[in-house]
Amino acid sequence: MQTIEVLRELSDGIGVAGFEDEVRETIRGLVEPFVDEIRCDALGNLFAIRRGSGERTLMLDAHMDEIGFVVKWIDEAGYLRFAPIGGWDERIVPGHRVVILTRDGTRHTGVIGTAPPHILAAEERKQPIPMERMFIDIGATSKDEVAALGIRIGDPLTIHYPFSELANGTVTGKAFDDRAGCTVLIETARRLAEHDVRMDVAFSFVFGEEVGLRGARTAAYQLEPDLAIAIEWSIGAYMPGVAPESQPVRFGLGPAISVADRSIVVSRHLIAAIESVAEAASIPYQYKLPTYGGTDAGAIHLTRGGVLAGVVSVPCRYIHSPISTLRVDDLEQTIRLTTAFVDALPDAVFGG
Ligand SMILES: [Zn+2]
Repeated sequence: MQTIEVLRELSDGIGVAGFEDEVRETIRGLVEPFVDEIRCDALGNLFAIRRGSGERTLMLDAHMDEIGFVVKWIDEAGYLRFAPIGGWDERIVPGHRVVILTRDGTRHTGVIGTAPPHILAAEERKQPIPMERMFIDIGATSKDEVAALGIRIGDPLTIHYPFSELANGTVTGKAFDDRAGCTVLIETARRLAEHDVRMDVAFSFVFGEEVGLRGARTAAYQLEPDLAIAIEWSIGAYMPGVAPESQPVRFGLGPAISVADRSIVVSRHLIAAIESVAEAASIPYQYKLPTYGGTDAGAIHLTRGGVLAGVVSVPCRYIHSPISTLRVDDLEQTIRLTTAFVDALPDAVFGG
């Protein structure tokens, strides 16, 4: 399967934080041929382990979960109310299609409705609509009809835009945060399958990043890595109305190396090692401007007695919306960098 097809399959899957099962099983099937062991823990982290010849362990982290919602109330007229899981910008929520995933895995389509402007007072029209006043219309006309479809309180749902290709090698989908990172891990495992590796590599597909880095924390505790790299997206903001110094990363400049975000200040020694690997392999890179956002590396580096950790990310635009967008060449260069970095270990970081 081509890289872009992996991203398509993962982005179109539903994996709201705490409900990652479907995405986890897709990832398991894709990565299993390239590793020596695969296992899942009690809370739903998936570890795909490639055994190396050395004693050290590298944790490569990407989170499986995406922001979404859960059904929180079903009213007598058959409308659903919903609660957010993860950080949504309320301004962009109304007026979209959603897919609801029932307990037996059935998908139902609905739309997020609000009272139309024609019947609102002039003042109300100018205000953003609070999420409590939005509702989902699935076409049902009673609570019993909703129940007959198998939809219950607690079922997850996402705003669902299928993966699609734009101009200029750009693609868009609903969940590049962080299925772009998951794609990097799967493709890195595939490419490394043809090489010897000299550290154990734990490809860690973790749950629950969007609700507080939950999976990364429990994963790092178990793995006790000597080194960890979180593979994430970063905030592409080359767009109208944003000054250059406020654009954390740009499209077309390759993977972004984090120096400091709100969750970690990365060791200069580790940054220099990643830069050297990129330069030796002629891989372009950029820095993610400090100090926007936070990632799993924030939780990982504070695990046990502390873990040397960094972040490499794929530039994406419009994250935490259903229209995340990236350039496939940036994704490819991130895979190249991650693969070259593993090849250069342990010497690149721990000396010869
Ligand atoms: Zn993320």
